[in-house]
Amino acid sequence: MRQSALYAPTLREDPKEAEVTSHRLLLRGGYVRQVASGVYAYLPLAYRVLQKISRIIEEEMDRAGAQEILLPVIQPKEVWEASGRWETFGPLMFRAEDRHGRPFALGPTHEELITALVRDEVRSYKRLPLRLYQIQTKFRDEYRPRFGLLRGREFLMKDAYSFDRDEEGLEESYWAMYRAYERIFRRLGVEARAVLADTGAMGGSESHEFMILADIGEDTIAYCPQCDYAANVERAEVVVREEAPPEEPMEPLRRVRTPGARTVAEQAAALGLPPEKIIKNVVYVADGEVVVVLVRGDHEANEAKVRRVLGAETLEMADEETIRRTFGAGPGFVGPIGVVGVRFFADHAVRALRNASTGANRDDEHFLGVNPGRDFEPEGYYDLRTVREGDVCPKCGAPLRFARGIEVGHVFKLGTKYSEALGATYLDEEGRERPIVMGSYGIGVSRLVQAIVEQSHDEDGIIWPLSVAPYEVHLLVTNMAEPELREAGERLYEELTRRGVEVLYDDRPDRAGVKFKDADLLGIPYHVVVGARTREEGLVEWKERRTRAVDPIPLAEAAEVIA
Ligand code: ATP
Ligand code: MG
Ligand code: MG
Ligand code: MG
Repeated sequence: MRQSALYAPTLREDPKEAEVTSHRLLLRGGYVRQVASGVYAYLPLAYRVLQKISRIIEEEMDRAGAQEILLPVIQPKEVWEASGRWETFGPLMFRAEDRHGRPFALGPTHEELITALVRDEVRSYKRLPLRLYQIQTKFRDEYRPRFGLLRGREFLMKDAYSFDRDEEGLEESYWAMYRAYERIFRRLGVEARAVLADTGAMGGSESHEFMILADIGEDTIAYCPQCDYAANVERAEVVVREEAPPEEPMEPLRRVRTPGARTVAEQAAALGLPPEKIIKNVVYVADGEVVVVLVRGDHEANEAKVRRVLGAETLEMADEETIRRTFGAGPGFVGPIGVVGVRFFADHAVRALRNASTGANRDDEHFLGVNPGRDFEPEGYYDLRTVREGDVCPKCGAPLRFARGIEVGHVFKLGTKYSEALGATYLDEEGRERPIVMGSYGIGVSRLVQAIVEQSHDEDGIIWPLSVAPYEVHLLVTNMAEPELREAGERLYEELTRRGVEVLYDDRPDRAGVKFKDADLLGIPYHVVVGARTREEGLVEWKERRTRAVDPIPLAEAAEVIA
């Protein structure tokens, strides 16, 4: 590609709207432009990156036995009503009407639609397992769209769905996807750490998020420096506060129940612990009722807060069975804990909870991680979940550390939630009707474009990993007015292109300084400079963008060496 013809309007000044480095660099490099809040246009360079990311994802999805499809953006209200999410998505969902006044959703995700689709086509166990995926535009009217492509209102997602006969099948699909994600992020050249994610009220289900660690990340990850434990703090994990970090790792925490104990003080006494060691508060919405688990020191104060937040008149103690059913099977749910359940009947509480947020609140299915300040106005809202500084690892007892992350992928065992709601069943070998067991797996494709930049840049610009770079080689001729240099540049461009190298050729009449600056900004991983040394020594300079290491190569051999 000749840069003189490339549509990449670079900016000299820092754009005011950009709060984070990666967003600033993509705007300055002429990669993207904002059309409206959270809505972006991808210019040629960004689109090439998007396509390369998509291609890698497609290859790995195919390898994991998933087939690519394309579902509509416009989805009838009926499927969303069947799952209950027409309500629970609240203002996060973009809605539209046709000329007859029929309501539609602009898909924020596709569990409902694909379940309805598979329901109508898959009747027999012989058609299972089935894995389908798409790369497609999603719409979410985020409470706070920001940081450019990181939190858009229109964005590209890869979403995959697995359909299995039973839990065992789901297990296989889940880990096949998990491993595919590991390969995808490795191939994209980014470091994405898998962390335990919240499973909402789906007790027993499993979920992981893939996080790119970055200070500007909107998720907080608690991780253990001693074992492999790492979790999004959205996840309702029970942890125990330790006053002083232990010298030795504590022995693994046990699951303890305190039936009969109705207050934290009573539970603490039953466990032989001081009450201030019991610290975690959790809210779940399960089976149409809100279950609040209070395990922080001051039960009375907590109860008052819950009443205030939920506006609930009646607080009812949950029985052991409810608590066990809701939390007992959760992975990693361990620790010398006391649990007090408070149960509300639901409409009222769910509505109140939703009002306290934007409506993207914890619902009783596929969990949408809700984050105060990011997803709703935190004023007057008491965050009942966050793990705090000083909490210890629920696995080994070492003091937890905290880091910020950008969620770039999410794998989730859905179970039969959607298949039951939408009637997606199959007949097994014995002719019995059974619900299909599902999983869902997302990757933020457009978010990744920017998250990669956030992880890979320096003070002068972007540094693309080779696998996703818009071009592989940036060829610069320092002075196009010198016929000898121009000819060398033209020849090298032709030759490299012929050999299949993706070359961006800076054939502009600009000064060398401008070209070098732009090349650093655009971030193509290798630069080839045709300049003074070409004229004087017959050499071109082969430069690595990341290290700035320069390697002189004889012009005559350059095409062969580089290709
Ligand atoms: P977040 O916690 O950042 O709001 P999410 O948990 O709501 O994300 P999922 O429903 O798990 O998102 O969607 C799958 C993936 O889609 C996410 O892992 C993320 O990479 C991407 N994604 C979600 N919301 C956005 C958005 N507003 N803009 C860009 N990408 C997004
Ligand atoms: Mg979200
Ligand atoms: Mg999330
Ligand atoms: Mg998620």
